[in-house]
Amino acid sequence: MNTEPPAWENEPLIIPDGNCPHENFQAFVGVPRIMDRDYPNAKPKHFKAEIIIKCVQCGGNFMFKGLPRVISCDEVGTGASGCQASLPIIPWDGTLAGKITVKMP
Ligand SMILES: [Zn+2]
Repeated sequence: MNTEPPAWENEPLIIPDGNCPHENFQAFVGVPRIMDRDYPNAKPKHFKAEIIIKCVQCGGNFMFKGLPRVISCDEVGTGASGCQASLPIIPWDGTLAGKITVKMP
């Protein structure tokens, strides 16, 4: 990978204040382009959406539920803290993705 991480990616994690109502959030989304080779005209081989969510009121980080602790160009996952989601993406090809399963509590 030859992309520089965005500045917010290296910010220290903050445990949310237990008394905060957590009413407003800020989302940080980065899309690293992962090159096949390290030369100037190389095209990206992989793309990922990397997401961090923080409460604006207390500054606390939120964890992603239901994602495995995996770092991969082909699988969804989070890092060790669970506070940064990594979602592999590709340019849309104009087709529909297929059957949708809805799961609600
Ligand atoms: Zn909060």
